[in-house]
Amino acid sequence: MEKDLHRLIRRELQDLGVTPPLNVHDLCERLSRRRGRPLFLRAAPLPKPGPSGMWAEYDTYDVILYQQETTELHQDGIILHEVGHILVAEKERAAEDSAREAETPDSTPDGDAGSVDVEGWAALMPVFGTEAVKRIAQRCSYDDGGEECAVELVATIILEWSALLASSTPPADDPALRRVEAALGDRRGWL
Ligand SMILES: [Zn+2]
Repeated sequence: MEKDLHRLIRRELQDLGVTPPLNVHDLCERLSRRRGRPLFLRAAPLPKPGPSGMWAEYDTYDVILYQQETTELHQDGIILHEVGHILVAEKERAAEDSAREAETPDSTPDGDAGSVDVEGWAALMPVFGTEAVKRIAQRCSYDDGGEECAVELVATIILEWSALLASSTPPADDPALRRVEAALGDRRGWL
């Protein structure tokens, strides 16, 4: 199960064109571009105890609020957690849309439909059984049927990937070589 989640996340990062080193703000910009709507990141002195981050979805834009009073690494984790919520919501919506299209044969075929991963994120939400998940489950603050844990796992996997790549050799100056290194690093990071 966790392997599937790794695979899905890698596919998402590749689709977004995210390459190491990880820059969470850049990742959000790319996600915003893909969604075709602004995504605002706002640091705020959120009350403690309480959620350290929040995603608010408006009609035409998204806002991710994150705790101002913490380390940058923690902030990255908070933002990635909320990005996880957005990705889950996208997949759920894509699944709903394709279900609706299946019911209306007259509808115009959507060129992107083939690339939509319907079996994806939503299906991975409810059940996890690995040790890593248990460790993360303790950090979940809400009892909402497992999405919190899964989303937290998304953030953790991306951060672990980035940490693995950061500890490898610095990227070469030659762009072609960089691509090779990124590909290799990508593979190593996801083993
Ligand atoms: Zn959450």
